[in-house]
Amino acid sequence: MAAYLAKAGVSCCVFERELMPREHVGESLVPSSTRVFKDLDFLPRMEEAKFPHKFGAAWTAASDAKVYNVDFGGVSADCHVDVRFAERDQGVGQNYTYHVDRGKFDLMLLQHANQFGAQVYEGVGVSGVDFTNLDYAEVNYNIGKKEFSTTCKIVVDASGRKTLLGNQLKWRIQDPVFDQYAIHTWFDGYDRRCMAADKETQGDFIFIHFLPVTNTWVWQIPITERVTSIGVVTQKKNFAKSKESREEFFWECIKTRPELYEGLKAQGSQQIKPFKDEGDYSYAMKQLASDRVVLVGDAGRFVDPIFSTGVSIALNCSRFAHKDVLKSLETGNYSREAFANYEKTLKLGTRNWYNFITVYYRLNVLFTAFVQDPRYRLDVLKLLQGDVYDDAEPAVLTRMRNIVRQVEKDPNHALHGFLGSLTADAFVEASA
Ligand SMILES: Cc1cc2nc3c(=O)[nH]c(=O)nc-3n(C[C@H](O)[C@H](O)[C@H](O)COP(=O)(O)OP(=O)(O)OC[C@H]3O[C@@H](n4cnc5c(N)ncnc54)[C@H](O)[C@@H]3O)c2cc1C
Repeated sequence: MAAYLAKAGVSCCVFERELMPREHVGESLVPSSTRVFKDLDFLPRMEEAKFPHKFGAAWTAASDAKVYNVDFGGVSADCHVDVRFAERDQGVGQNYTYHVDRGKFDLMLLQHANQFGAQVYEGVGVSGVDFTNLDYAEVNYNIGKKEFSTTCKIVVDASGRKTLLGNQLKWRIQDPVFDQYAIHTWFDGYDRRCMAADKETQGDFIFIHFLPVTNTWVWQIPITERVTSIGVVTQKKNFAKSKESREEFFWECIKTRPELYEGLKAQGSQQIKPFKDEGDYSYAMKQLASDRVVLVGDAGRFVDPIFSTGVSIALNCSRFAHKDVLKSLETGNYSREAFANYEKTLKLGTRNWYNFITVYYRLNVLFTAFVQDPRYRLDVLKLLQGDVYDDAEPAVLTRMRNIVRQVEKDPNHALHGFLGSLTADAFVEASA
């Protein structure tokens, strides 16, 4: 956001609580991020940094997961699917996106914003914003134990899952359905091709490995040529309180996919970071803007990371929101209505994401069937590429949701036994 605004000549500053580079989860991008990198002349920097190119994604299941072999409308679906971004031209001039080391990537973005003229302050934590004066917003911040304040015309809250203003303004609604937790770390020397169907070309894909434990899966994300991020995502009820038992849980989960376990434990493969866990992370906000304030990225909403969308949504939030901010500065109208285009676009995009994720968890076999069905494959790929902001509801999503409804209603339906326990319709209606 700071890069967009500074590039347009706006005087702006960033307060970042941490000293960069700092570690962060969320390492695999989707291709819709390329539009932002292009807007910001950032693509050459991404190439210079030599982040692994991500040409596609693959989903794998244990070889004995025959339960997934059902016939759906003439297509036999199983859980082994993959997609290549090259199959659908997004008009962005490249058929891949990136996996990133977030310490390095986030620092690069901050430096880029700074080069456009944004003032970037690290080690400065914002404690709250006072909106009582109608002529400006007053930002209160800390450097060490000292407190300061400054004023500005518009505040953009990009505080991530800390949801600084969502908490202050009491906009946050916890998601009662997606209560996923994750535990993750990095491995050096793991041969990530060991799980690939096509060992020649899929080495740098993101892999999602399904586990036999309900709603539990593992991500495998290339960080460098040698380093791979591995994370287990599961439901809260499976997640033990103590650190030791969480680590045990990680390895117990991995063992359910013996090839993966052997690969991670093989000679030459070594865990190079302590485990880190992330909990209780799905929520929405009642609104994404108000007078003099806009929420972007995770500060505005977070849903399960199954499709690796968070960073790209955060980037695209700024792609849309900065236009409203520029107009607001130009017209002097700082009221909520000035940010209506942004709120509308984001509401539509995140609703599509949410519905897609819901279908995925509710009737997983439908997702794999649709990916394998030539009638729907490119439409599903469009969603996986992150192009979710231009349709009220993509036809493919309506079709999937209708099938889920039919299956839910009919206990004799061939797919009824495959229904997962997560269903989220009620929450969608209540959220932003
Ligand atoms: C388990 C898990 C796996 C994920 N996997 C993926 C993935 O593969 N791909 C993907 O795209 N996304 C993934 N995500 C989501 C991704 O992490 C986020 O969506 C993304 O980082 C959001 O970016 P952001 O800029 O909104 O927030 P952040 O990246 O969290 O940045 C917020 C910044 O604000 C700073 N901050 C917070 N509070 C204050 C304050 N009071 N004052 C000053 N600074 C403050 C923080 O220090 C931080 O640097 C995953 C998330 C989880 C939980």
